[in-house]
Amino acid sequence: MINKKIYMVMLLIFLGLFSSQISLAGDVKGHIDEVFERNGNTIIRGWACVSSINASIYVHAYAGANYWNNGQFMASTFANKYTEGAVNQACGTSAVWHRFEFNINKAIADSHKDKLIYIHGINPYGGANLTIGDSGRYRMPIDPLTKMKSSRVKKILWVAAHPDDEIIISPLLGEVCKMPGKSCSFVLANSGYKGVCYKDNGGNSNCGQLSNDTIRRMEMRASVDYIEGTGENLEIHHTKNGFTADEIGIIESDWNTSVTGSYKNYIKNKINEVKPDIIITHDPRHGTTCHPEHRVIGDIVYRIVKESPFMIRNDAYVVTNRRVVVGDKIGLDSANTVDPSNWQYNANTSRLPYFGNITGWNFLTNVVSKHPSQFNASLRYAIATVPAENRRISLQSMANYANTNSANEAIHEKWCADYTPYNNSK
Ligand SMILES: [Zn+2]
Repeated sequence: MINKKIYMVMLLIFLGLFSSQISLAGDVKGHIDEVFERNGNTIIRGWACVSSINASIYVHAYAGANYWNNGQFMASTFANKYTEGAVNQACGTSAVWHRFEFNINKAIADSHKDKLIYIHGINPYGGANLTIGDSGRYRMPIDPLTKMKSSRVKKILWVAAHPDDEIIISPLLGEVCKMPGKSCSFVLANSGYKGVCYKDNGGNSNCGQLSNDTIRRMEMRASVDYIEGTGENLEIHHTKNGFTADEIGIIESDWNTSVTGSYKNYIKNKINEVKPDIIITHDPRHGTTCHPEHRVIGDIVYRIVKESPFMIRNDAYVVTNRRVVVGDKIGLDSANTVDPSNWQYNANTSRLPYFGNITGWNFLTNVVSKHPSQFNASLRYAIATVPAENRRISLQSMANYANTNSANEAIHEKWCADYTPYNNSK
């Protein structure tokens, strides 16, 4: 043991002296930064180099395991894309391009769904073709429902603004939350106490007797109990409710006053505590209804996931649907026409085995009925009878969201600007 240590010290001294005289090739270095889908293909981005060598290298992508453990070869590319100074610094190189972008076609990607991704840097200078950083962390894309049902996913967290916001993803939760080994948690910013309270026509008979805050917390409890069955895992915070769209810039700072520290940190601590495998939240661009609090909580979660040490954006999803009114019916738009990287769930045809095989949309309308203060009989009927094409739920991973949607931002912004009751004037 001692001999080995001395040998190592000698070797390091030798290398140190040696490298001061000539440039010695080091090891493969690098990092996988992002995995997302674009036009059905899988894009893997990162950087790789051989340290202290002023040249670009090849990188090979493997699925399932690394090369030495019988991983399956997927693709090769040259890591010679534009590289910022920080990467050159990490590589010990100057002004050499080390970034790569794999564009793995759909056929290959589909044959490796959900497998872990390993990237080897190919070292032409005699050193090992080591894997780069975060190899074995990202996976090849798979649809979120199959992912949620897989045995590696145990905890699913819905983070939203209010009670009843869970309606939009309720069929997905109904498919999964009662599966053995699954736990679904619900975290909401506030009770939505500023909203309406329908009493007549099948509304909540407690309206006017109990406070809206109490009523909505009770309704949410009933909804979670129906979906999840355990009577646990619900947390409704006490932030202020009731902002207009032109106050969107002040919502988060106002919410900060409801907790010690920032509200973002508060949610972050909650996420760290739950350690979910999957997070689902509102789309920050429109929050489905353009309610500004939906948009703000979605944006908060988006920023937390981006900085999270254990979550990756591939395991966090936004609900990209916008609510539409079709005649006197209420349903969901076909968000896929706006965001091609969406995944879509057809609640009109899906069946929920844990709920007597009813359709996803029937399940959704049952969840709606848990919130009678918000949906009286007329509104429930309007949702229950919406056309089939407005019964599709669209999700996309935050990784896709971050990389493929900037061109669509204006479409969504305009939609909310035109929308009542949450537009800029009302
Ligand atoms: Zn809401």
